[in-house]
Amino acid sequence: MNAMENQPKEYNGKSYTTYEVLQRQRKMETLMRKQRQDIKYLQEGGASQDDIVAAKSRYRSTMVQYADFSNSMGLPQQKERIYMDGLGRIVSGKTPIIVKPPKGGIIKSSKASNGWGGVNYTQSYTKMTAIDRLKTEYGIIFSDSRKYPMSEELLADCVGWMDSFSKKFPGFLKGNPVKLPEIKCMAPSKMGNAVGHYSYYAGTTRAVEIGLNGTYHSDLAVFQKYVDSCVKLKWYPANATAHKTFVHEYGHHVSHSMVCISGKPEWQHEFIQECVQEFKKKNPGYSFSTHVGLKDYLSEYGSTSESECFAEAFAEYFGGENPREFALIFGKNWKRN
Ligand SMILES: [Zn+2]
Repeated sequence: MNAMENQPKEYNGKSYTTYEVLQRQRKMETLMRKQRQDIKYLQEGGASQDDIVAAKSRYRSTMVQYADFSNSMGLPQQKERIYMDGLGRIVSGKTPIIVKPPKGGIIKSSKASNGWGGVNYTQSYTKMTAIDRLKTEYGIIFSDSRKYPMSEELLADCVGWMDSFSKKFPGFLKGNPVKLPEIKCMAPSKMGNAVGHYSYYAGTTRAVEIGLNGTYHSDLAVFQKYVDSCVKLKWYPANATAHKTFVHEYGHHVSHSMVCISGKPEWQHEFIQECVQEFKKKNPGYSFSTHVGLKDYLSEYGSTSESECFAEAFAEYFGGENPREFALIFGKNWKRN
């Protein structure tokens, strides 16, 4: 240990000595081993899917904090100390939280607490005018939790994004029998640790809401930091921005809407298949015939299901600049639709 290393370092406004930094790192490693053990017990004990998903979320969230803390302090991550329990891989980079209800029930396609170009917009809304715009232009009621009020800048971003999307595809809103009634910024306890979700009734034109997790959406700076960590860990593609969770959830709404507009229950499946086939033609090295190998070309989250593949590609193409090849194919095919 040299003199330089004994200089106190700052993290989130708190000062740490080298000893304290190492101690905190060890503590997080111990916590992660415990969380891994918990997941294992839950799985072996036949716990409910909800409990397992929640436990995995907690573990994943510690992983993000650990990576962020280690990186900020210039310390290597000591992964072998976490994995010495021999339990192997406990969670994939992004485990989608999809609650599959009985027929006719409610479906939530959620974006887990980790997990993400083409539409430009100018954000000139205040919170009040943004909420007003949602109501008068789109018939959407906005509400937020008193403890976790949505960041004004982020809400202005989301509404500005909707304006641009709707202007670009005026036929989509007009011809869409699926009306999105609510956007809510919610307390994290009501979100099951998801960053966002889209709820609707399967097989009907009824949508329920887009929910946004207040922990992230009430503070743009905190959220941006989280997004940056996820990009570093390759959970999100490099062009991810804070309002992309909203765009991702809106992507689920678009897909649900297209099923209703086209009258084809298989609309999403056919659309993704078409994109994958075209991607394969341009990349003969892509050895899969479905979305499952898209981890490095889209995101790990997007490779977990067709529905997340759609939402991730939608967010990458429409949510930010410089979409990559798969998202470009997605965007081109969407415009043709
Ligand atoms: Zn999703």
